[in-house]
Amino acid sequence: MAIPFPKRKVSRAVAAEELAILERTYPHAVTALEYESPFELLVAVILSAQCTDARVNMITPHLFARYPDAESLARARQHDVETIIKSCGFFRMKAKNVIAAAQAIVAEHGGNVPGEREALEALPGVGRKTANVVMSVAFGEAAFAVDTHVFRVAHRLGLTLATTPRGVEDDVTKLVPREKWRHAHHWLILHGRQICKAPTPLCGTCPVTMCPSRAIVARYLSEKAAARTAVGPARPGARGGGVPRLRRSS
Ligand code: SF4
Repeated sequence: MAIPFPKRKVSRAVAAEELAILERTYPHAVTALEYESPFELLVAVILSAQCTDARVNMITPHLFARYPDAESLARARQHDVETIIKSCGFFRMKAKNVIAAAQAIVAEHGGNVPGEREALEALPGVGRKTANVVMSVAFGEAAFAVDTHVFRVAHRLGLTLATTPRGVEDDVTKLVPREKWRHAHHWLILHGRQICKAPTPLCGTCPVTMCPSRAIVARYLSEKAAARTAVGPARPGARGGGVPRLRRSS
């Protein structure tokens, strides 16, 4: 079972304090994806779905050495692209999407990645999150992308109760001045990667002392530890790879 989120949002004042701490903690936060142009960033973001940025950064130098711009990628054979990006998961769909996006960029935008939301979201494989990343990172526009880390951290901090990425985006952007939207995205991502981790948040080292999830996490971890104690040590060779399992009560 995952750690439950708080059931209530924090006050606007507490939210402002939490976000100010994150801003101070991650003042120079930037994307971990390596890119040299809006085209490279767009392709990297499409490849990063369900994949780590580190893995994408291993793949893209080979991809961009062979296809350095939209024109060359638009002419690529799908099988060749699949071979290069195979290790990033969903490679068939991603290869199809990056080629189709490159073809649309060439046909409709003269080979240049557009900076407007509507044009970006019209490209194959580009949804609101990808458009937000490209707008904010490549073009410096006010946009706030919600990925899995942002979604989780925003909930744990009590900034939102929304059940969709768009709902989280709407809630958080009401709490952050417009000129900081593109930075706030990175504050939450870095915090999610470094401290507020999905399975085991490091609350003991977290600077956000007023976080409403502290007590929830502590209770969850102590219940988990108690369940392990009730089961006893894992037996070597037991099913489940030695992971402790709850005894059935008779
Ligand atoms: S106190 Fe814990 S749950 Fe809250 S933001 Fe920090 S690490 Fe995450």
